Amino acid sequence: MSKIIDGKALSMSIKEDVRAKVSEAVARGVRVPCLAVVIVGDDPASKSYVKGKVNAASFTGIDSPLIELPEETTTEQLLSCVRRLNSDPSVDGILVQLPLPAHIDADAVLDAVDPSKDVDGFHPSNVAALWLGRPCFVPCTPLGIIRLIESTGVDISGKNAVVVGRSNIVGKPVAKLLLDRNATVTLAHSRTRDLASVTRGADILVAAVGRPRMITADMIKPGAVVIDVGINRIDGGRLVGDVDFDGASAVAGFITPVPGGAGPMTIAMLMANTLGAYYAHTGAAQQPLE
Ligand code: NDP
Repeated sequence: MSKIIDGKALSMSIKEDVRAKVSEAVARGVRVPCLAVVIVGDDPASKSYVKGKVNAASFTGIDSPLIELPEETTTEQLLSCVRRLNSDPSVDGILVQLPLPAHIDADAVLDAVDPSKDVDGFHPSNVAALWLGRPCFVPCTPLGIIRLIESTGVDISGKNAVVVGRSNIVGKPVAKLLLDRNATVTLAHSRTRDLASVTRGADILVAAVGRPRMITADMIKPGAVVIDVGINRIDGGRLVGDVDFDGASAVAGFITPVPGGAGPMTIAMLMANTLGAYYAHTGAAQQPLE
């Protein structure tokens, strides 16, 4: 039976660490950090994600003005909102909740975010820096996945890691982070032949597909670390991951639950990235303690 990786507890310890650092800086007279959150339209899932982010910001002491724009907002209107936040010196991080309505040019919007405030790590210059191994903002879900794997005590170096899913926000960046930690990485996708034979070779398996319970017990190497990123609603709203948890947990060494695994870690790493932006903008980390 596998050990369950408790993403909720780990995310709480990260948020508590951020909260302590924010409160320490503010106690020294540095301004309060600020994460501006922009949402366009009324998508219920997006609203719920945004609520989680705003709540986490409030817990950590980060100011988080919520800018709610109507569904009919144009690309140009959203761009001017982003530009205003870029030029506001009290704003450390800008989060534009995705997906945006189809009529908005999402690439243009992400490209417009000041890279030094791009706490989601989606700006092309941060993406390029990640692949070049330079300092940058790393997307929050991949960062959280790495922290979950590290929390098991399993050394990533030299392991076979398989990532199922090659999106820009999860699959590709997590593959790079695993490569940076000296895993031998396979990036699988919808055209991968005989996926089960690929995943069975994985000491570390990350599922980021968006298909309920598609990774079954027979696809998992005994003892593997399994990180389930999927968030799928079935049977009128119940949340399940991309991994068949009941079957997989009899085979894997470590496994994340859904909910309570990668989800809360994404939010915690957003707070950590915002703290990083705040330190960079204010120099707060460099100021000596009084
Ligand atoms: P995308 O839809 O952007 O990408 C899905 C990927 O899965 C694609 O690369 C696709 O391959 C691949 N795929 C689809 N079907 C198969 C298949 N049968 N076999 C193998 N690969 C397949 O999804 P995201 O990366 O944005 O999200 C993935 C999941 O993670 C979703 O459930 C999402 O809700 C969740 N998520 C969770 C987050 C969290 O905070 N926990 C954050 C972000 C996402 P191809 O490229 O060939 O089409």
